Amino acid sequence: MAPISAAAAHSASGPLSRPSTGATLALVDARDGADDRESALAAAHEAALEWLRSLDERPVWPRVGLDEMLEVFGGPLPEHSTDATAVVRQLADGAGPGLVGIPGGRFFGFVIGATLPAALAADWLVSAWDQNSGSAMLTPTTVALERVAGQWMLDLFGLPAGASVGFVTGGQLANFACLLTARNAVLARAGWDLAEQGLHDAPRVRFVVGADRHGSIDRAARFLGIGRAEWTVVEADDQGRMLASGLERALDAGEGPAIVCLQAGEVHTGAFDDFGALIPVAHRHGAWVHVDGAFGLWAATSPRLRHLTAGMAAADSWATDAHKTLNVPYDCGMAIIRDPADSIAAFRTGGDYLVYTGLDPWDVTPELSRRARGVPAWAALRSLGRAGVAELVERLHANARAMAEGLGAIDGVRVLNDVDYTQVMFRLADDAATRALGAAILAEGTAVVTGAEWRGRAALRCSMSSWATTPADVDRTLAAVRSLVG
Ligand SMILES: *Cc1c(COP(=O)(O)O)cnc(C)c1O
Repeated sequence: MAPISAAAAHSASGPLSRPSTGATLALVDARDGADDRESALAAAHEAALEWLRSLDERPVWPRVGLDEMLEVFGGPLPEHSTDATAVVRQLADGAGPGLVGIPGGRFFGFVIGATLPAALAADWLVSAWDQNSGSAMLTPTTVALERVAGQWMLDLFGLPAGASVGFVTGGQLANFACLLTARNAVLARAGWDLAEQGLHDAPRVRFVVGADRHGSIDRAARFLGIGRAEWTVVEADDQGRMLASGLERALDAGEGPAIVCLQAGEVHTGAFDDFGALIPVAHRHGAWVHVDGAFGLWAATSPRLRHLTAGMAAADSWATDAHKTLNVPYDCGMAIIRDPADSIAAFRTGGDYLVYTGLDPWDVTPELSRRARGVPAWAALRSLGRAGVAELVERLHANARAMAEGLGAIDGVRVLNDVDYTQVMFRLADDAATRALGAAILAEGTAVVTGAEWRGRAALRCSMSSWATTPADVDRTLAAVRSLVG
């Protein structure tokens, strides 16, 4: 697909646009507007299929960067209107070169899922329905779908059925919403009403994290005004798991309200904290336990991988993503709180104009008006069923094992982690060669892996998160790496 020229993209009066009607838009004609919708949606449908069909053969990493894409889409704001279908065609024709092959089978960068067919189609419906899904009183269909999706997830994760599930944009906001709720709750238990009395003179909350926590925990702490000087960082083992002896020492060293952040799925190694050992220690010290399980919580859905999450259900809050392991489109994460009363204390709004019908979405997340982003998650779960979710997670794990085995067999490549879950980390003998291999893989185009740093050394990371990855994709990727190393 050739990019349209920058000049054509900038033109407000090319063959694709229809004449302006002056100050008033043509859209005031309702019948005309309905026709616009049909042809615009048909154009989007066609372009979407073309994109999906291109995934297997196009380079996974784009050949152009931001500057080229600004050229294609930039220029001054057009003075006059352009018809909807023409706009969609411009988008589709221009976008290709800068799009990343994320929904395909060989994107292994960061921790990023693809999109299951049912979830993708459901997401289109969410846009067409245009439901502002903050409250059951306003949008019963989408709130019901999200509530069911939340209940199904609690069941799959083995978490308490009465917990609240708030759909947010992703793991970052889920961590933020859970930690905000946690701070409110531990202060309330210490006799401090944060909503009324504010933070200024509040008792100090001890914030205990592992040495290999995800960066989104650090950002959540910043959003909450919990400064680095107030954190206690507990040492971790060689896979990034928090040491129970370290947690015991950290909590013994102080007193008062405390929040302990644990992790299901370290982003480099995929390792899980030992919840069975750590959570009882934290609870014995009266701490709130939060689990960041952006992709790791999903291990609990598989009878074969569930052991990794043993003891996790005893925590007080859990953050996870649907757009990673469950393979729904961006964006969708879940903030799960054991006691919904804590969510309500943190988020329920007091506005008179709002009518409550039980637990509303706006009672359990920071948002008010919101997209029904949980509906694609409902569709993904409905299409997979319990066995299908387990099979998906086990397949990701099996692909990771196969990738690790294949990489380990390449002369000079060393796999650095245990590969108990979906992450594979590897490197060459020296840092410069490792970084060069990472760049060469992106340039070669067969697959995408992410550069990383582990224990002060350069590494490369391969995350198995796409339902679309087949054994053939693993083989193609290994062949590419072999040719680049050899
Ligand atoms: C991806 C990730 C996050 C952040 O999630 P987003 O969906 O990117 O906001 C947090 N924690 C871990 C362990 C992750 O892998």
